[in-house]
Amino acid sequence: MNCDVLVVGAGVVGAATTWALAERGARVLTLDAHGPTHRYGSSHGESRIFRRAYWEGAAYLPLLNRANELWAELEEAHGDTLLVRTGGVFIGSGEGGVVPLGRRTARLGGIEHEVWNAARLADRFPWFGVDEGMTALYEPGAYTVLAARARLAMLDAAVRRRARLRFGDEAERLRPVVDGVEVRLRSGEKISCGVVVLATGPWMQGALAIGLGHVLAPVRVPVYWFRADHRLGIEGFPAFLYESAGGGVVYGVPEWGGGAPRIKVGFHNRQQRPGDPQNTTSHAVAPRFRREMAAVVSRILTGVDPEPVSWRQCYYTLTPDGGFVIDRSPADPRVVHVSACSGHGFKFATAVGECAAALALGEPASVDLSPFTSARFEEERQISRSAPRT
Ligand SMILES: Cc1cc2nc3c(=O)[nH]c(=O)nc-3n(C[C@H](O)[C@H](O)[C@H](O)COP(=O)(O)OP(=O)(O)OC[C@H]3O[C@@H](n4cnc5c(N)ncnc54)[C@H](O)[C@@H]3O)c2cc1C
Repeated sequence: MNCDVLVVGAGVVGAATTWALAERGARVLTLDAHGPTHRYGSSHGESRIFRRAYWEGAAYLPLLNRANELWAELEEAHGDTLLVRTGGVFIGSGEGGVVPLGRRTARLGGIEHEVWNAARLADRFPWFGVDEGMTALYEPGAYTVLAARARLAMLDAAVRRRARLRFGDEAERLRPVVDGVEVRLRSGEKISCGVVVLATGPWMQGALAIGLGHVLAPVRVPVYWFRADHRLGIEGFPAFLYESAGGGVVYGVPEWGGGAPRIKVGFHNRQQRPGDPQNTTSHAVAPRFRREMAAVVSRILTGVDPEPVSWRQCYYTLTPDGGFVIDRSPADPRVVHVSACSGHGFKFATAVGECAAALALGEPASVDLSPFTSARFEEERQISRSAPRT
């Protein structure tokens, strides 16, 4: 047996799983098809938002709370900044989802928050363009995770605990054997392990995702960078969500690295197109998408130059209900699936990794995982089985 647990994929979820396994003393080997840092898949880039007033639902609270503790632990162990305390402001109308549902979760979870009218918002955060009837939910404890740095900090912590990492090695096939799983690499090498954790992000749909391929949809989604108006700068700029009257939700976050400070902006629920993460050659963004985003930014971010300074494509993996899968494979309990994160998984990664490690080691998870089982997609599985093959 080459290792107790083989983790396939060293994006943020695989990195967190590797860290958690190594902390528990497991013999862990982690493979990634690409290098230690790369710009494919979902985890690259400088920043991700962490927020707990979660309009997506209170079912995420236990996982969010645990993730929050673990991010702080990681930063403490790392000894350098990984979390930037920007706070978060979530803007919308009383009828939409972001403010009322976020407020509901905040109340249920005892999360510090304030609800502001448009005038208070304009006074506190002058970058936003808001109509009179709009409201904002302010979560002072929200923050920005320095994404690339945090992921590397996890891998670093894992290696210090004797985890082994291999880059440029692509897992191609899994084969259940008597005492575990045999994983064949593209190079022809075979690795035997007790359990395999698949943390392959948008590649989850491929041949490795036994029993789940039918419900996972990798999508391509653009992300843009804008310059703040020089009179305002970005000092004090919060992480934000902005829900427009038509239901479009835009997210944004300040970034400080790589030269001039910028604001990263993207749609949370638009401009998504089926995408093949294997296509590593084209990161072009259609001009009509760029025009659409520029028009939205000129309306909602008045303190920002509305012409994007750069843009690129990113990938993530949607499930039918926009939730996660953190579960053993329906086809073989020695295969654990994580990292179908539906575009909002980075903030959870520390806790997801810990839960994946528990599943792999046959231990109880620190969080109730029942909202994240693959069995909730049983109906889709039946439909896809009975669909005529063409
Ligand atoms: C533009 C954008 C903005 C986002 N903003 C936020 C945010 O603000 N907050 C938030 O919480 N979340 C956010 N997300 C979502 C979050 O980034 C993802 O949920 C998270 O990064 C998923 O990580 P992952 O490890 O599952 O996948 P990935 O990062 O894609 O990692 C998968 C890894 O598996 C490797 N791999 C794949 N197949 C194989 C194989 N066969 N063999 C070996 N290796 C393999 C790949 O090379 C890759 O390194 C955002 C996502 C995007 C794209």
